[in-house]
Amino acid sequence: MKKERGLLIVLSGPSGVGKGTVCGALRKQDTDILYSVSATTRSPREGEIDGVNYFFKTRDDFEEMIKNDQLLEWAEYVGNFYGTPVDYVEKTLSEGKDIILEIEVQGALKVREKFAEGVFIFLMPPSLAELRNRIVNRGTETEDLINNRMTVAKDEIEMMDKYDYVVENDEVHLAVERIKAIVISEHCRKDRL
Ligand code: 5GP
Repeated sequence: MKKERGLLIVLSGPSGVGKGTVCGALRKQDTDILYSVSATTRSPREGEIDGVNYFFKTRDDFEEMIKNDQLLEWAEYVGNFYGTPVDYVEKTLSEGKDIILEIEVQGALKVREKFAEGVFIFLMPPSLAELRNRIVNRGTETEDLINNRMTVAKDEIEMMDKYDYVVENDEVHLAVERIKAIVISEHCRKDRL
């Protein structure tokens, strides 16, 4: 009873909700799930490593990737481009392994159009005030960027209905447990066996 393709899991939600933290915590626990590394034109933050956190690209290189159909999806977000390299995703799924994409909402909806069978999880902040606190506490953005991210976040939260699951990120370990439970139940679905 072995399924042929892996699960494509999309973890999305507003910036600052903690997608990266939750994904990192999940990564430590469940080695069976692989992680897609995105390409971006944004500059690296302190401590970020090329090829680990992102593939950091120039705008020209990114546009070349779009032109050559190398991205499963891409989106412009607060002035920078972000996109998912398609080869690694396809290779992983065809080997029967599960993969998580941690991406913003516009990109998630584009993936939905191509992979209706994907599992779409919306990570929800406990409140907008808490979301703002988290972005401020991260200390990596200027006041203007924080305001831009909050404006985008309000629009993003309205897209919640388009997802299969909504997971509140009140505490990271609880959000991780909820996501693991979703993955287990998706594997048990009759239509996936
Ligand atoms: P950050 O600049 O904070 O690392 O990421 C900004 C936003 O871009 C986050 O919501 C993050 O999930 C999203 N993001 C990261 N990689 C991708 C990607 O490949 N595609 C899309 N559409 N969004 C991404």
